[in-house]
Amino acid sequence: MRPISRRLALINWLSVITLAQVAQSQQTPTNPPPDERFKADILVISPHPDDESTIAGYLAKAVLDEHRRVAVVVTTRGDAGQNLVGYEQARSLAEIREIETRQALASIGIDHVFFLRAPDTWGQDVADVLRSLETSNHGSSLGEAVRFIRLTRPEVVITMLPATVVGENHEDHQAAGVIATEAFDLAGDPTWFPEQVAAPEDRLWYGNLMEGLRAWQPKKLYYYTDASHLDFVKGTGPEYSMTAVSPSQHVSYARLAARELSFHRTQYGDDPAKALATNNLHDYEQPLPFVLAKSLVGGSVIGDIMDGVRSAPIAFAPVRGYRPPENTAGLSIELGEGWAFYRRFYPAHNLDVMPGLLSPELGVGSGQHFPVLLLLHNTTDKPVTFHLRTQLPQGWIVDSTSAEHAHPWPMNTFTAAAHSDFTVRIRLVAPRVEKSQWQTISWTADADGQQIGPVTLRVYVGGQ
Ligand SMILES: [Zn+2]
Repeated sequence: MRPISRRLALINWLSVITLAQVAQSQQTPTNPPPDERFKADILVISPHPDDESTIAGYLAKAVLDEHRRVAVVVTTRGDAGQNLVGYEQARSLAEIREIETRQALASIGIDHVFFLRAPDTWGQDVADVLRSLETSNHGSSLGEAVRFIRLTRPEVVITMLPATVVGENHEDHQAAGVIATEAFDLAGDPTWFPEQVAAPEDRLWYGNLMEGLRAWQPKKLYYYTDASHLDFVKGTGPEYSMTAVSPSQHVSYARLAARELSFHRTQYGDDPAKALATNNLHDYEQPLPFVLAKSLVGGSVIGDIMDGVRSAPIAFAPVRGYRPPENTAGLSIELGEGWAFYRRFYPAHNLDVMPGLLSPELGVGSGQHFPVLLLLHNTTDKPVTFHLRTQLPQGWIVDSTSAEHAHPWPMNTFTAAAHSDFTVRIRLVAPRVEKSQWQTISWTADADGQQIGPVTLRVYVGGQ
């Protein structure tokens, strides 16, 4: 057959499009509904490839036995991880870990897996959520998280606990929780990322820059945690048995979770496969707790994750937002970094369960050096000098403070200008201990004739 010239082909093609458009214009125009194939009951926003594995037993139950539609967003690609299988690292490892995650989730029936592709942060003494928010380009990541909520229109969002805990306590884990919480609160507001919810000019033609999504308000927000102690989450949400047997799969949820994890071979090697082969599933059989961060549809706190959820959409529910404290004239001290941020973040996002959930805590190694930031607040009209005292249990050492360059050590006197904060960086050295144990550090200050504080930090010192 003689090839049709390119020009003729274009004319033919345009005339087909035009005929199609004429035919369509003769019907009453309607907007197409959101793509039903992507509607989710539950959207999981988890930080690294393999962090979804922590709740894989519950996700297996939701998908395979309760026929829930579950989608997963992984905020990083795990490019800073190890590789127990091969030599591939960094971006190459990220490509591998994306595939591992898709295979892992496919094993429990989940194939809607999105990657937000924030960088994987690693390598600091102490996790700080603010550092991960910085490296992940917070605003850009938030816009993407909002897009995934609008695309999947979930009833429930599940993410990691936005708090500093003793456990793995990775800053990317906390950042995923912060970004998911913010996205939960913003996705229903069409004035945020408005380009996502504006209608395309002509969806049947090309180059549309308006995305045509709908604003969407999810109904419930749940957190899960990698804390090494789970006493503080008791009673704040449902807890799922992992020794229970899946009615459809005829094996325990622990076994389904181990199988899901077994695909993450770069991180876990053959350990999960061996555990499955030898039926040594103890690590997977612990009950799986969640924290109900908030519900806009009621339901029991410890009831099922889908409790109270009906299919009808709900209206946008604005949160309280940041409110500056009232009657602030005075002097105060508080822990800086993530702790200072979370004190303001929880009330701003109506996370009423969070302020009382756990007091500031940190896990450090035996003999480890680590920094703590303290904020000295002066909201009076004059400069004020703070005399800071650090109360340390036996064996602890203050290595240095932020004033060490200007003054002979030890320097514990700091001046905050009027209506200003002074940030003190204190470097501590934990004692060498045989057995892991909790210890408490506290700070008080004398300033302008007042006693201020105490501020306390519980530290879990790991044994040698
Ligand atoms: Zn992780």
